[in-house]
Amino acid sequence: MVQLTKTDFIQYLNCPKSLWVMKNEPDNYPDGEFSSFLQKLTREGYEVEGYVRKYFDETVTTDIDFQSIFDNGDGFFARADVLETTEEGDVILYEIKSSTRVKTSGSHNHLKDICFQGICGAKAGVIIDKFVLVHLNGTYEKAGAIIPSELLVFEDVTEKVIEITSETETEMEEALQLLEQSEINKEGCSCKFKSRAHHCDTFDYFNRGITKPSIYSLPRLSEKKRRDLIADDIFQLKDVPEDYELSDIQTGVLLSAHQSKPQIDLGAIRGFLEAYEFPLYFFDYETFGSAVPLIDGISPHKHFPVQYSLHILDEDGTLSHKEFLQKEPQLPRNLVEQMVQNFGSVGSVVSWHASFEKTQNKEMAKWFPDKAGFLNDLNDRMVDLEDVFKKSYVDARFEGSTSIKKVLPILCPHLGYDHLAVQDGATAMDAWQKMVDASGDDLVAKAQELLDYCKLDTLAMVEIYRFLEKVLDS
Ligand code: SF4
Repeated sequence: MVQLTKTDFIQYLNCPKSLWVMKNEPDNYPDGEFSSFLQKLTREGYEVEGYVRKYFDETVTTDIDFQSIFDNGDGFFARADVLETTEEGDVILYEIKSSTRVKTSGSHNHLKDICFQGICGAKAGVIIDKFVLVHLNGTYEKAGAIIPSELLVFEDVTEKVIEITSETETEMEEALQLLEQSEINKEGCSCKFKSRAHHCDTFDYFNRGITKPSIYSLPRLSEKKRRDLIADDIFQLKDVPEDYELSDIQTGVLLSAHQSKPQIDLGAIRGFLEAYEFPLYFFDYETFGSAVPLIDGISPHKHFPVQYSLHILDEDGTLSHKEFLQKEPQLPRNLVEQMVQNFGSVGSVVSWHASFEKTQNKEMAKWFPDKAGFLNDLNDRMVDLEDVFKKSYVDARFEGSTSIKKVLPILCPHLGYDHLAVQDGATAMDAWQKMVDASGDDLVAKAQELLDYCKLDTLAMVEIYRFLEKVLDS
């Protein structure tokens, strides 16, 4: 029999078609693999639940059940995080979230989530009198042992749940009916009118005829223009007329696709690079953040730097490398102190998407006022290599993105992340926590994986910089 869980239902609300593929054709569902990032989220959920249990153990004397199952065999299945029966006989359902607020839209509708459980409870003969969402207190700052009553916020959402119960019941029935269908229309999906940022991984499955580079590679294309092009059955960039009215950057992507070559503004690139002052400090942080703060002075989901890589390029072409990896959970004072040793007082600090590095420096300047002068000076000297690729070097093969993960394989195909154990920032966070928990050879191996990843991020910038120099020389 087809079964609809709470997670399925939330996915149904986001996109019925992608849920159908996930349940009926799992081999065609691209997110089948349980990534280490998702594992981190799951672990965090359990950790928050642990503090909720502690809270109830310490403060509540009434009847408490964890993970009660509601399943009356009609296809709807729910597992309630916490179910309390008060002395008066009222039943309170608690749903635990690791966010710092109640979310009510998009992919995280907590009200629909808890309402689904209430309906499943009623079907199974358990009438819920009160609905409470338990989430994290975003202003809580860890100081010593975690205090559950300060970490957690209990928000009564009973009235809001009652308001949406009828519509939720209808949606649940519709979701189950959809899953029972043996086939659905697989020709296109509604997201074809939206920008690529809204496409899920199943987009390609439902839109097999759309090959790259497509109109979704035109950055910030208005919905009206997207609809106009689609009305004319135009999806491939080569089918968009060269004189179609677009912004400068969109026109660059279009011409690149038509001419099968990048659009390069040599004067602008020269202007960027000539403003750089040697030695060049190619610099990148990795940060860590978790739902329940790991160290004192940190709030839920607040990030702090745990690692950096620094490639230093002198004017004569000499390249050297420095790096730092924090192996114990603590505020990054050691990291900043090594930075003071590694950076000279002159020279540009080159980052990719520099606002991220600047934000970390500003935060650390607050934690370590004695280092504020040094960190503020780094920010004053910081330049963003990504800016070159916003207008001055445009290639349709970047797919409308200026992410280093899109630019590097096109400009420097000899460099890549594929061989690394850690290949992106989200995985790096998970890897850092695993390293902190490890010991002996395991710790050494995990530390090396993180060092290799971060080192490649700054080496990639060096190689892209050298590539641009060659473009200017050619
Ligand atoms: S891209 Fe298609 S399959 Fe994915 S969420 Fe949008 S409509 Fe659903």
